This record gives sequence, structure tokens and C-alpha cells, in this order.
Amino acid sequence: MKIITTPDGRLREKSEKVREIDDEIRGIIDDMRKLSLDWEKEHPYELSAAMAAPQMGVLKRIIIVRDDMEDKKNATFTALINPEVIRTEGKTVRDYEGCLSVPSIYGMVPRPSKVKVKAKLEDGTEVRIKASGELARTLLHEIDHLDGILFIDHIRDDKDAFYEMNDKGDLIPVDYEKQIKDNPELWGEE
Ligand SMILES: [Zn+2]
Repeated sequence: MKIITTPDGRLREKSEKVREIDDEIRGIIDDMRKLSLDWEKEHPYELSAAMAAPQMGVLKRIIIVRDDMEDKKNATFTALINPEVIRTEGKTVRDYEGCLSVPSIYGMVPRPSKVKVKAKLEDGTEVRIKASGELARTLLHEIDHLDGILFIDHIRDDKDAFYEMNDKGDLIPVDYEKQIKDNPELWGEE
């Protein structure tokens, strides 16, 4: 198992619902946790906040979300199965996003500030989550993956919204024409 990146077409597909939470599904969740932490070891300035199953080429509606997005030492994740956005609320807020599957590009992405999500936990319990701020953003980003949507799609026409990270961990604006517009494979168009 490894993390797949653009322009891999599997990132653009719609994932299917999980019918039964069995050993196969639990194994997929374990692999997601492991891959997220492996990625983090190679990215010293970043925290692996979340991941969706299609990011390792498994087209099933499963995401994992870090329990504490501030503390790298806390390496536990909650898995959400068949997560669904029930509704979004609040004003639209722009903030930085990155993605394990979109290497070295970051974006200033507009998202609603609050979201209500329903999902199943690993033990089958149905939960409803009311989230705001960073957690709301993360949930929306990950649920997008289950429908083949990447954060870059939300800012495609905003040439001032793209950034890259320098070797000190600072985000600096990228030359849109040079780096983004002229790279159709970033969007999965070859
Ligand atoms: Zn992502």
C-alpha cells in the first residue's frame, strides 16, 4: 500500500459505500493509519491530519481524522465510515490546505465554516458530528476525496490561491502560469 498522487485517475473516481464493517475494512483502516504516520515522518514541518481511502487507491467511503490536530505526539485517528455531509452553515472562510495526494502544492481554499456530518464508527455506532473551524475544513476536504474532488478544484480559477512550501516550512506564493496552469496533469488531464 502506498499513497497515490495526481494525476492518478483513481483520485478522480467516486468511491463506493461500505456495506459491512469486516476484517477487510478494519485492515484498510489500519493501513491508512500507518501510511499517514509514515508520510509524516518524511514531512517534518507538517502534520498528517487526515486521509481518505481512495488516496491509497481503495475506492471505498472511509476516512480517518487525527484526534488532536495540534499535537504531533498524539498519533491516534478516528475512522469514519460512509461519512455524509448533512448540511453546511456559517460564512465562507479561506484558509490553507494541503493534501498527501497533491505533492508540494498548497492552496487558500474557501469552505463553509461549519458542517454537520453523519457517519459510522469502526464498531458500527452511528454518529453525528457538528464541527467548525479546522475540523470542519478537514471533514469537507476528506469527504470530497470520496467523490473524486481535490482541493485544487475549488481554487482552479483563483490564481492567487496557490502556494508551495520552502525548505524552512514557510508557504510562499507560486507562479500560477508556470507551475499550475501549464501542468494539466495536476488536474488529472493528460
Ligand atoms: Zn487530501
